Amino acid sequence: MKWRDVKAGELGKKQIGRRLALAGWAATRRDHGGLVFIDLRDESGLAQLVINPERAPEAAKIAHGVRNEFVLRAEGEVAARAAEAVNPNLPTGEVELQVDELEIVSRSEALPFQLDEENVDEGLRLRYRYLDLRREQMQRNLRLSATVVGAIRRFMDDEGFIDVWTPNMSKATPEGARDFLVPVRLQPGRFFALMQSPQLFKQTLMVSGFGRYYQIATCFRDEDLRADRQFEFRQLDLEISFPTRDDVFEALEGSVTASFEALGREAPARPFRRLTWQEAMSRYGSDKPDLRFGLELHDATEVTRGSEFKVFSGAASVQYLTVPQELSRAELASLEELAKEWGGKGLAYLVFDEQGEVRSPIAKFLSEEELEAVRPETPGATVLFGADSPGTVARVLSAVRNHLGRELGLIDESRNEFLWVTDFPLFEWDEDGQRWTFSHHPFTGVRPGDEDLIESDPGAALSQAYDLVWNGWELGSGSIRIHDPEVQKRIFRAMGISDEDAEERFGFLLEVLRMGAPPHGGFALGIERFVALLAGERNIREVVAFPKAASGSEPLTGAPTPIAQEVLAELGIQVLPQKD
Ligand code: ASP
Repeated sequence: MKWRDVKAGELGKKQIGRRLALAGWAATRRDHGGLVFIDLRDESGLAQLVINPERAPEAAKIAHGVRNEFVLRAEGEVAARAAEAVNPNLPTGEVELQVDELEIVSRSEALPFQLDEENVDEGLRLRYRYLDLRREQMQRNLRLSATVVGAIRRFMDDEGFIDVWTPNMSKATPEGARDFLVPVRLQPGRFFALMQSPQLFKQTLMVSGFGRYYQIATCFRDEDLRADRQFEFRQLDLEISFPTRDDVFEALEGSVTASFEALGREAPARPFRRLTWQEAMSRYGSDKPDLRFGLELHDATEVTRGSEFKVFSGAASVQYLTVPQELSRAELASLEELAKEWGGKGLAYLVFDEQGEVRSPIAKFLSEEELEAVRPETPGATVLFGADSPGTVARVLSAVRNHLGRELGLIDESRNEFLWVTDFPLFEWDEDGQRWTFSHHPFTGVRPGDEDLIESDPGAALSQAYDLVWNGWELGSGSIRIHDPEVQKRIFRAMGISDEDAEERFGFLLEVLRMGAPPHGGFALGIERFVALLAGERNIREVVAFPKAASGSEPLTGAPTPIAQEVLAELGIQVLPQKD
């Protein structure tokens, strides 16, 4: 027996008069006492079944017992719907199946939520993910994800990139997160790390002569979960030998374009815009600015050096942005709260009314020159200040900028702003460890000409790292790498890693680099972030089939779970007693 002759979503006028079988889930059932209507759903869409007791008394009896999400098989005749019953919102809405035989193939217990219910609690959705995935939104998102990954693969294959699988369990790769560790039964007391990225393997593949590598690689990072972060995620990971930075950019821009086209959308204009890190920070206070709106930052550090207002004169950096309207006291108070959440001490402001008069508790402390320097071109505006260390000012004003962009409706949602941010600093100062650490990863190339700064002024050295940003989301990072083992050692030293430590942790890399390493560089694009944005979702959980909840657990399976003593003993592991 064939389960079905066509899919539900394929039913149409051309089949009128034919006897066909359909199989799928009962999405809704309307029991009119006599006639029963069932919307039957499968992967292709919905079709209406009509069960008429006069035509099929046995089927009608069965139909009365059908509940939502039962699996059914129905056989009958395709018929045109009466004019008043045509549903123009449904692709199959002109026809229905007049059922002769109905079979309940499989039953469903009472549902924890209805699939067409809005705003179902996310905990419940994740606990019953298999039901949640039947919903239209999730069906659409996972299909979109598959379309995008397929398009990227085709593009990369066509461009001569070789898909190479690299280990998921190996030696730790520093990407700024903690490692998930895997014990090894054959060597108790030793652990593999789940790879934070295939970084060192892809560099090795360049030394091995592959020229162009890519992989849709799963990466594992133990860090707090957020809207754009899961413990495991996929990257379009790629590496190129003898590259210019533009070669890398072209591969990424091509992948993005191919994805848009595969979805039938207009691709963003190329080449993508570029800003140096320095410019992005000074104009937007962020290394991932949303360029769909203005509200740029301006500097007032110099002009306020001698200010009577001590908050300004005593701050290492004073920056401001001009909101093109007079904000109310309540709005200003809530912005101040936001500033505090982001580590600011407050949020000084000046409101310039339509007459150009200033309203502000701090106005009396500012000189005419200071006021004139920040006076908006058009009156009826509010100037918001950040005054603190440069890092804090940037963080606070960038958060305020993003907030206002959304709240004041300044964001043009129809725009797609892709941006390359380049020339990142090579190092960052790690307050906790009181040492320099990498800002991208330790294998990132130094900007030509900045090599001497590695020792003399690490904070001033720039790198050959770049990020790709889309509408304020960081899609991924990459760099031209270090291919000279001596430079690589100097970078380790600058980060306080002794030659001995470097040998122990990265000895294999240093050896690889000593064996004829070509110049190389690459990138990794976060697939889930990219897909989430393409799907119009704000959380990557919405495009992941079985994501972890914010707590880090997997509600469907109940993982992570304790492990039996004997198993742990075999691995040489003893678990310390846990609080609670
Ligand atoms: N391995 C880097 C990352 O995962 C990407 C790269 O530098 O290619 O962010």
